[in-house]
Amino acid sequence: MKTVIIGAGAMGSLFGSFLSVSQEEVWLVDIWEDHIQALVSTGLTVEEGGKKQTIPVHATKEVASIGKADLILFFVKAYHTEKAASDALVLQKEGTVFLTLQNGLGNEEAICKQVDRRNVMLGVTNHGATLLGPGHIRHAGWGKTYIGELDGKVTPQVTQIARLFTQAGIETEVSSNIQSLVWNKLFINVGINSVAALTGLKNGRLLDYPETLRLMEALVSEAVAVARKKGISIEGNPVETVKAVAEATRENRCSMGQDFDNRRKTEIDAINGAVVREAERLGIAVPYNQMITDLVKVIEKNF
Ligand code: NAD
Repeated sequence: MKTVIIGAGAMGSLFGSFLSVSQEEVWLVDIWEDHIQALVSTGLTVEEGGKKQTIPVHATKEVASIGKADLILFFVKAYHTEKAASDALVLQKEGTVFLTLQNGLGNEEAICKQVDRRNVMLGVTNHGATLLGPGHIRHAGWGKTYIGELDGKVTPQVTQIARLFTQAGIETEVSSNIQSLVWNKLFINVGINSVAALTGLKNGRLLDYPETLRLMEALVSEAVAVARKKGISIEGNPVETVKAVAEATRENRCSMGQDFDNRRKTEIDAINGAVVREAERLGIAVPYNQMITDLVKVIEKNF
């Protein structure tokens, strides 16, 4: 299976490293010149637990030079998905699968605007990675990956991709209710990311103050109400899950926090902003998510 990863940052490179070791042809595509040059000349260096290994990979800025692909995997930030999907159209042939494992909501819609939704798959991954510099990432955390067809059918195509990922060392399961998994992961980002970004705190410190706890609970409860109204199945108690994740990742500065620290655009529109959009469609008020989205967006505008 010829695989092309669009967005070879932290996560795209991580998946690229696993797949390149086990698969025949995997291409990493990115618009960042220095990174692509480093990948082509030196390879991809993956750091983990104090150890480093450098893996040879195929990488390019020129998506049109690759030819046709069987699988296109999106790992750009959510606000780049629409452009990335349009760039990827040149790779399409009959049966090409477009898979997004990005966080938040809206990526599926951005891809489906340009591609027949029967060729689009969705997923979530519990791996974590950090970009350290051109051609250099840290594998920050391991976890399961889930993928699924949008209509929930367990097709030979989705099963084949899960097998391929698992054989490459990315433990992957097929889900017949991937939307539910996407929402249940969204609750975690909804409860942690914007609060950590605005307060400048690491994840675990959010649990140390009644004020941040109250905010997290309100944000997640609103998102859960929206999900319930949409008929999404909810796993366990999402507020408690979010607190447990903040505790388990106590020393982490979340991705939106890192974006704030580096004065970069955030994925707020795919996280709390997405809850606001969905709530508007359903006629539900989500004042905490509305306010935190507005605050993050105003601060972003002044970066
Ligand atoms: P990143 O910023 O490290 O990488 C994104 C890359 O996309 C950048 O290198 C950028 O240059 C590239 N890019 C932008 N537009 C492009 C285009 N049109 N074509 C090709 N490349 C393009 O981001 P990341 O941390 O790897 O996150 C990617 C996605 O995965 C996000 O949605 C994020 O929420 C999600 N995610 C991240 C983690 C993590 O631990 N980092 C874990 C799970 C999910």
